[in-house]
Amino acid sequence: MRYQLDAEGKKRVTVIAGDGIGPEVVAATRAILDATGVRIAWEEHEAGAEVFKRGLASGVPKETIASIKDTRVALKGPLETPVGFGEKSANVTLRKLFETFANVRPVREMPNVKTRYSGAGVDLVIVRENVEDLYAGIEHMQTPGVAQCLKIMSRKGCEKIVRVAFELARAEGRKRVHCATKANIMKFTEGLLKKTFEEIAPEYPELEASHIIIDNCAHQLVRTPSQFDVIVTSNMNGDILSDLASGLIGGLGFAPGANLGADIAIFEAVHGSAPKYAGKNVINPTAVLLSGVMLLRHLDEFAAAASVEHALLLTLEQGVYTRDVRPEGSVSTTTFTERVIANLGRKSEQFQVRDYRPLLMREFSSDPVFVRPERRRTAGADLFLESPLSPGDLGRSLDQIAEATPLRLKMISNRGTKVYSDTGAMTDCVDQWRCRFVLRDGDGDLDDAPLFDLLRRVAAAHRWMHVEKLQEFDGQLGYSRAQGED
Ligand code: NAP
Repeated sequence: MRYQLDAEGKKRVTVIAGDGIGPEVVAATRAILDATGVRIAWEEHEAGAEVFKRGLASGVPKETIASIKDTRVALKGPLETPVGFGEKSANVTLRKLFETFANVRPVREMPNVKTRYSGAGVDLVIVRENVEDLYAGIEHMQTPGVAQCLKIMSRKGCEKIVRVAFELARAEGRKRVHCATKANIMKFTEGLLKKTFEEIAPEYPELEASHIIIDNCAHQLVRTPSQFDVIVTSNMNGDILSDLASGLIGGLGFAPGANLGADIAIFEAVHGSAPKYAGKNVINPTAVLLSGVMLLRHLDEFAAAASVEHALLLTLEQGVYTRDVRPEGSVSTTTFTERVIANLGRKSEQFQVRDYRPLLMREFSSDPVFVRPERRRTAGADLFLESPLSPGDLGRSLDQIAEATPLRLKMISNRGTKVYSDTGAMTDCVDQWRCRFVLRDGDGDLDDAPLFDLLRRVAAAHRWMHVEKLQEFDGQLGYSRAQGED
């Protein structure tokens, strides 16, 4: 069951008011959702600034975690990480704690919200992978002046997000799914998402599936947004694209979101706590309200969800709006909320509400091993060194060191470009080098002993910080070539 009932049969939802404008937008949303007559038992818990200030480094108390684990559904206001308290964002902590791997962000033109795109037919959903990619947060200073962030993407993670995108398109009666990646440059990470998408697409024959390069996707979104229905993309790309998309329809005040996992769903607006507006009763509650509409559908309250959506569209159609739309003639947050409540049960004439069906979340095995190759081989290793030497001097030194071993230096690259042996490239080198050693026996399988021996010899002359094996799975290379490497 996606949600739990209390003793009176009410649907239990954990609610976190959040920081800044959070309490105002969450109160508005609760009032409207309650006015539909849906019986929700709100369980209030805290997270964010005040919790950090009390000295809890995660910003999320254990009672809040326990409540979400129990209810499985949360409505959340924006959370701040105050400067000087805690290192990690409480928002990211919540998403990761409950493995809410899909971030669903719908973007739709709203009545009377004039933008450059009014009339352009913007009505799309961005499905962003929510836990992997550069947001795994694995970063290192490899030398005092060179930083690295690991972009981790898994076949399992790609399959989960791709399935959510196709299932969401089905549930919302949409026609097209685009997969937006940078697979042309990052063939293994972004390429895995593209490959997975192309493998799964035939299971959804009624949906038009196409791949688009992420930069062109941004360009096309700005030129002709109506061509998009559902866009599935990786974490970092989705973060940027979804903010761009919310800019097409009048800004963050109108951009809702849901963080969906296999067991838990957390609904929240895309926007933050906008502290300068806190307590002023001027901000737009629409983004959290539309997140609340998504929450109602998650609770199988489809009629109530449609009723709130109609009431909101009608309210805007009647020319009732908050300050972010236009300061002149705007109303307060509370007046806007009252007008939406007054419109419950009435329908917008011009704007349609989709006929939503339940979103099917596929179950995945919790076995960490998702792909099992029949064959694997290690062809060599990349040793990452810190050195002030020139490429030529470093290369000659490593050539000499490897002479007495089963490995030979194949090449050295600097920030991905081959610099040894010399290719004539005009590379401005830094002190971090990737030194690629391969077995002299081209078909051999490298054991750990010769690799440790090589590392010991290299470490006697140079400073090293990282080793990566060059693996092949079922005959496919599991590593990229450097720019200029043959
Ligand atoms: P923000 O809070 O989203 O606010 C940026 C601007 O967007 C506001 O100044 C305002 O624009 C507009 N805006 C946002 N929400 C609005 C609403 N409901 N109605 C009308 N206008 C709205 O971004 P930020 O100032 O960068 O971040 C503030 C804090 O929020 C930070 O601590 C950040 O870490 C946190 N944050 C939390 C979340 C989350 O909880 N998921 C997400 C993002 C940021 P104008 O100034 O043009 O009026």
